[in-house]
Amino acid sequence: MPTLVMKFGGTSVGMTTGLTQLLSIVLYEHERWERLLLVVSALEGVTDGLLEAARLAQLGNRRGYRRIVGTLRTRHLALIEHLPLGGNERAALQADIDRLLFDMLDTCQALADTETQQTRPEAIDAIIGVGERLAARIVAALLRQNGLRGVAIDATDIVVTDNVYGNATPNLPLTRERIADMLSPMLERKILPVITGFIGATIAGKPTTLGRGGSDYTASILAACTDAQEVWIWTDVDGMMTADPRDVDNARVIPQLSYNESAELAYFGARLLHARMIAPLQERRIPLRVRNVFKPQSTGTTIAELVEHTPKLKAVTLINGLGMFAAHSGALHGVMDLVDETLFEVAGTHAEVVFTAQSSWQGFLGFVIPTSAGPDALHSLEIALEKHAQNAEPRLTGWNFHPVTILTVIGARMNEARRAIADVLVALDGLQILALSQSPSNASFSVVLETAAAEDALYRVHNLISGAANT
Ligand code: ADP
Ligand code: ASP
Ligand code: MG
Repeated sequence: MPTLVMKFGGTSVGMTTGLTQLLSIVLYEHERWERLLLVVSALEGVTDGLLEAARLAQLGNRRGYRRIVGTLRTRHLALIEHLPLGGNERAALQADIDRLLFDMLDTCQALADTETQQTRPEAIDAIIGVGERLAARIVAALLRQNGLRGVAIDATDIVVTDNVYGNATPNLPLTRERIADMLSPMLERKILPVITGFIGATIAGKPTTLGRGGSDYTASILAACTDAQEVWIWTDVDGMMTADPRDVDNARVIPQLSYNESAELAYFGARLLHARMIAPLQERRIPLRVRNVFKPQSTGTTIAELVEHTPKLKAVTLINGLGMFAAHSGALHGVMDLVDETLFEVAGTHAEVVFTAQSSWQGFLGFVIPTSAGPDALHSLEIALEKHAQNAEPRLTGWNFHPVTILTVIGARMNEARRAIADVLVALDGLQILALSQSPSNASFSVVLETAAAEDALYRVHNLISGAANT
C-alpha cells in the first residue's frame, strides 16, 4: 500500500504563507497516495523560547518563564487569527492552546519549586515538547477546514524511546506495535494524522525529545515503522546544497546524494537534516527527498542508494568543536572520558567524533559537538570544563582548551579521491590545520581549524567544489 511520510519544519508552519503552501501540497498529495502521514515541528524559534523558559524555571525565575509563555501564547493566537478558519475551529484551537500552555506552566512551576540545583532533564523534555503539540493542532484544524480528515496526534502516544532525555532513541519494534494499534486503524479510515515531531515517551510514559532538529528523525522512524515508500522533508531551502546557503551565497542544490553522504553532511554540521534520521531509512532502502515548501514545483534533492563510479567532491560544511591542547604527549583516555562525561551532563549527548594528533612533546584532541545537542552545547561544555579546571580536576592537568571549527568535505569515493583531497589542502594553503581525518565511511574528509579561519576556509573550499563541478 503506497505510503508517504511528509515532514514540515518550523520554517513551513511558522507563518501563514508557509501554512498555505502546506495546505496546497497536502491537498495535492492526498489524492496520490494510499496513506499519508504528516509530521510537524514547532513554529520556528518556539523550541528556543521553551528551552529558555525551562532554564528560567530551573533558576526559579517565575516572572521570566511566565513572560515567555505569554509571548508564545500571543504568537500562536495571532497565527490562527490570520488563518482562514471557521468560528468553531478557531474557538476550539484557542482553548487547546490555552490548555497546553497552562499545563506547561504547571510543569515550569513544579520545576521552579524544586529545591535541588541539579538539572532535571525529564522536566525540561516535558516543557520543550509543547511547541510541536501546538503546531500539530493548528495544522490539523487547517486541514479539517479544507475538507480533509486531519487529526493531531501526540507522538508521546506512538514513539516509544529510551530514557536519554534530550537526545532519546526510539525503540522501533515497540513503536511499530503502537502504530499498528493506534495509527493503522485511522489510516484505514482515511484519516490524515498530523503527528508531532521531535517528541516521544519512555515505556513508562515519560515525555522525551529526540535532540534538536528531531522532527526529521520522527519522520524517518514513522516511515520505517509503516514501511513507507518515501519520506519528504519540506523546508525553506531548495534541497541539500553544496554549502549552507546562509553562509555561502552561490551554494547550489545537489540533485542526488547517497545515504552515506547525506548522513555525513548532517553529522558534520548541516542542520538541514537530523544526523540520526538516515540510518533507519538506509536500512530499509526508503528514499528521502528534501524539498522547498515555497517551490513545490522543484524536485529538490533525492537521497537514496547511489553508486558513483568516480570520486567526486559534493559539499562542504562546518561544525563547532572543542580543541584541547597539551604541552606533553601521553595517554589521552582520561581527558577524553572527562569531556564526554561533561558534555553528557550539560547537553545529554556524547562527543562521538574525536580527532587526535600527538607528537613527542605535544598532544591535540578535537571533539565534535553534535548539532542535536543544540546551539549552546559548546558554550555550556566550556563553562563546565572551566569549573573542573578551577577545581583542579586531575584529568585536566596540562590541558588547555578553546573552541575550534571542523570543516568537512563530503563526496563519493573519498578514499580514492587523493587528487581531490590534495586540491582541498592546496585551497587551504596558509591556514593553520590543527588535525585532519578521513572518515571510514568513504564519504567525508575533515580538517580542524582555528574558528577565526573557518569562514575563509569555507569560501575557498566551496569555490574549489563549484569549479570542479563546472569542468
Ligand atoms: P526546518 O525548520 O525546515 O527543519 P532547519 O532550520 O532545521 O529547517 O534546516 C534548514 C536550514 O538548514 C536552511 O535554512 C539552511 O540554512 C541550513 N543548511 C545548513 N547546511 C545546509 C546545506 N548543505 N544545504 C541546505 N541547507 C543547509
Ligand atoms: N522544534 C525542534 C527544534 O527546534 C525540532 C525540530 O525543529 O525538528 O529542535
Ligand atoms: Mg530542522
